[in-house]
Amino acid sequence: MVNFATAPAQVSDPPDLTAALVEVFSAIQGEGLNVGTRQIFIRFGICDLRCRFCDSAHTWKPSQTCQIERSPGERDFLTANNPVTSQQLLDWVNQQNQPGLHDSISLTGGEPLLHAEFLAQFLPLVRDRTGLPIYLETAGHLPLLLQPILPYLDAVGMDIKLPSVSGESHWSAHSEFLRCCHSAKLEVFCKLIVSAQTQTSDLVQARQLVAEVHPAIPVFLQPVTPLGTAKDLTAPRPEQVLAWQALMKANLKSVRVIPQTHKAIGQL
Ligand code: SF4
Repeated sequence: MVNFATAPAQVSDPPDLTAALVEVFSAIQGEGLNVGTRQIFIRFGICDLRCRFCDSAHTWKPSQTCQIERSPGERDFLTANNPVTSQQLLDWVNQQNQPGLHDSISLTGGEPLLHAEFLAQFLPLVRDRTGLPIYLETAGHLPLLLQPILPYLDAVGMDIKLPSVSGESHWSAHSEFLRCCHSAKLEVFCKLIVSAQTQTSDLVQARQLVAEVHPAIPVFLQPVTPLGTAKDLTAPRPEQVLAWQALMKANLKSVRVIPQTHKAIGQL
């Protein structure tokens, strides 16, 4: 007779978590420190911010379906149902992973950190399967959700949202987020979208925020790509950009101005 009081507990596999996905595809990175490199993009759905310049508003809410590219760069998408499991996503990413083609995997959105629990399960698997470095593209305002996945990241591109341009204000969260990435010795850079409406006081505050963590952290000023939806945001004038770069360089070692290059080469 089995003594149930002393029988060992059944060990079951952890549940396969799910996430709302927008798309998986292979493309050339058009922004920041990794500009020009080839990445497998995993775009997650859902964002809790509402930036005035957002060109990904279709990602704000979870969609019933997602688009999966079958062959890297061919745009031969199939449609799959949401939410997706980590095993499904692993198979789709692995399908993209032709030998030598990709430099890294980009987690983008939406806000990928809103799927932190899923990522904590998925990232060790995808690192193991593909051997590719993992790059997180984030608004940089959710430091608590970053913590569980820090061990599985290699690089982070985080935004510093300038209130005068984005309509969003997250100074203390950005500061804590940048400090976490720097302390974890990740490759990290900050991206600031600038428009003709940028207030100098915002740039001074961003400069101080970065310099307090480390003045050598690279900063990218990215002139806004004007959208029909945000008519009050216009591209900055050349003399504005020159003045702002000089202002930032007064305290920071690496300040570059780079527009969205993927749009310049016609890659959406
Ligand atoms: S954080 Fe990114 S996805 Fe979210 S609203 Fe801002 S630009 Fe759009």
